[in-house]
Amino acid sequence: MTKPSENSNLPEQPAAASDARFRALVTATSDVIYSMSADWSVMGQLDGRGFLTDTQEPMSGWIEKYIHPDDFGKVKAAIAEAIRDKKIFQLEHRVLQADGSTGWTSSRAVPILDDKGDIIEWFGTASDITEQKRAEEAVREEKERSEQQRRLYETITSSTPDLIYVFGLDYRFQYANEALLTMWGKTRENAVGKSLLENGYEPWHAEMHEREIDKIRETKTSIRGEVSFPHAILGRRVYDYILNPVLNAQGEVEAVAGTTRDITDIKNAETAITESETRFRVMAESTDVMISVGDEMGKTIYFNQAWATITGRPAAELLYYGWLDLIHPDDKEQVMRLFAASLKDIKPWQYEFRLPAAGNAYRWLLTRSTPRFRSDGSFAGYISSTVDITEIKENEQRKNAFISMVSHELKTPLTSAISYVQVSQKKATEYQDTQVAGMLERAGKQLAKMTRMINGFLNVSRLESGKIHMDLQEFDITQLVGEAVEEEKAAINNHVLVFNPCNPMMVKADREKIGQVISNLISNAVKYSPSGSAIHITCSHINGGVQVSVADEGMGITAEDLPRLFERYYRVKGTENNHISGFGIGLYLCSEIIKGHGGEIWAESEVDKGSVFYFSLPG
Ligand code: ADP
Repeated sequence: MTKPSENSNLPEQPAAASDARFRALVTATSDVIYSMSADWSVMGQLDGRGFLTDTQEPMSGWIEKYIHPDDFGKVKAAIAEAIRDKKIFQLEHRVLQADGSTGWTSSRAVPILDDKGDIIEWFGTASDITEQKRAEEAVREEKERSEQQRRLYETITSSTPDLIYVFGLDYRFQYANEALLTMWGKTRENAVGKSLLENGYEPWHAEMHEREIDKIRETKTSIRGEVSFPHAILGRRVYDYILNPVLNAQGEVEAVAGTTRDITDIKNAETAITESETRFRVMAESTDVMISVGDEMGKTIYFNQAWATITGRPAAELLYYGWLDLIHPDDKEQVMRLFAASLKDIKPWQYEFRLPAAGNAYRWLLTRSTPRFRSDGSFAGYISSTVDITEIKENEQRKNAFISMVSHELKTPLTSAISYVQVSQKKATEYQDTQVAGMLERAGKQLAKMTRMINGFLNVSRLESGKIHMDLQEFDITQLVGEAVEEEKAAINNHVLVFNPCNPMMVKADREKIGQVISNLISNAVKYSPSGSAIHITCSHINGGVQVSVADEGMGITAEDLPRLFERYYRVKGTENNHISGFGIGLYLCSEIIKGHGGEIWAESEVDKGSVFYFSLPG
């Protein structure tokens, strides 16, 4: 006779009765019924109850057929333990259901022992707990989701400098974020659940919010306000706050949620902007200087009163591109070119042009434009100041006319003096009076120097009145440099001129004027370097054009003076320079001539070491 294990707690029964009861039980239960061989290798019979597939014949591969692969290990371990201890096998695990899907079962099997206490077989039931497991899983997922939501909101509310809080309808705080707790200097535990007064609000302030909570409860609408009160460390601050109703499922207000933002800095900035705007307008409207402001597209969006007064036109007529239409036809092209360039190359600009004034006579204006930038560094347009330079221009024109006239007047007697000196020198040489011939030669050199100066002034005045024009012809630049060097050699006494020629190169330029440039650079090198030092003149082919350089071993030029050398009448100030005569027009003329040929002119220098002047001409 067989008997269940003692551990199974089943009472012993006579065999027939027990069998009948057993059958009844099998029929009555909705659980899956199975039997297993002593070592669980063979499944005797299984009534799957529609949950698992039935079997009629003993089968050995039941594990693979019924158990979910991921639970093999767990099931095998529980079987081994039950066999070892001859105890009830009991386990919740996943199974492969009759329809192929994964289900959950709670399985219990009792070992049947023989007289010797050895296991004969196992008899078991397995209930379908798939639904229960799914429900458990859904609850777990829901919990995890809400936990995640909580963490998310907590992160959001704690990472903002804004104050976030929730009031219950009893005016007590139900929630306060990190920023608010920090402002109060409290922990969540001793702040939440407390009233406004208890959290340190002044009575008027607490009262105000309590009335707002009442109102929100009544109207179910938000309230926005601004409030100012002192902060323990930061002093008086201004806050902007919004209180919102929190509605329950029935649509009733169950709490009031609020956010508060410190807007002190914004308020201060707004006030500062308004003040600076007012200051600018007052300044701009009360000055005689014409002031205008453009946008990034070049449209002028503001003209001050001085513009209207000087032009005799309302600002509205000048706005946008209106002022450009008024420019004198002779100046318009140049202004338009500079204006277009100023929108590409953002830097300070300067224009001179004529505009009809109130009485319609043209006035000369000088405009200086400075770029302005937004706080993000992007270009916002130019702000310009314009002054009337008509009188300066007229004075300049008079001065030019005077210089031109004087130069002309001086040239005639000078030319005669030169020819008399030349004839006298020839005669003195014929009479072999070397002393007189020598003196006349020196006089000739001085007169040549004077001629050069006068020609310089004449050229400046011609340049100013636009009367200088380039007489272009093809010639070999190397040959011209060589000739200029030879000419200068004849005129100097104590310097050593060294010329490094390059291969012949044809250029199309005004031969005489380029010759003047070379002579000017060499005579400057002589003038500004010590007697006996060397001057190197080099000619080279660069970028399809030609580059000529004149290097001396003289006093040099400071970095400050370098960019200004080519300005009209500019002379370096300094004790050494005061003893060297000059008018500051040589380099200005050189620069105008070279630029007029589409070339470039510049200098490099080191104080007390020497200077190198370069110019280039396109090939
Ligand atoms: P200037 O008649 O005064 O020489 P320039 O226009 O030729 O007029 O030169 C302008 C100024 O540049 C000079 O006054 C001088 O200070 C400086 N300069 C020109 N060439 C040299 C040079 N080679 N070395 C040092 N300074 C120079």
